[in-house]
Amino acid sequence: MHKELPLAPHLKTPNRPAKTGTWRSVRPVLDTERCNLCLLCWVYCPDGTVKRVGEKLEIDYEYCKGCGICSRECKRNCITMVEEEV
Ligand code: SF4
Ligand code: SF4
Repeated sequence: MHKELPLAPHLKTPNRPAKTGTWRSVRPVLDTERCNLCLLCWVYCPDGTVKRVGEKLEIDYEYCKGCGICSRECKRNCITMVEEEV
């Protein structure tokens, strides 16, 4: 069973009422095999959409706006930005 750890909390509405995921034209795809859980992406994500679930990170695409900051900050190149399909 996965448990969300308090170390990387996910901010929920009403803190962020706008569903910023609708702004996205590219999406971050996280390679959980390469990720060492350093949490730099969590620190830098301006929308708090990186959350830790069990021993892995997940991105909340409902709120991720596709800015790419997480991808640029990850030192292990675990996060690839890919075009959204329309
Ligand atoms: S910055 Fe990269 S290595 Fe660190 S937690 Fe995020 S995805 Fe994993
Ligand atoms: S693309 Fe931007 S909003 Fe989405 S998870 Fe990465 S840093 Fe956060």
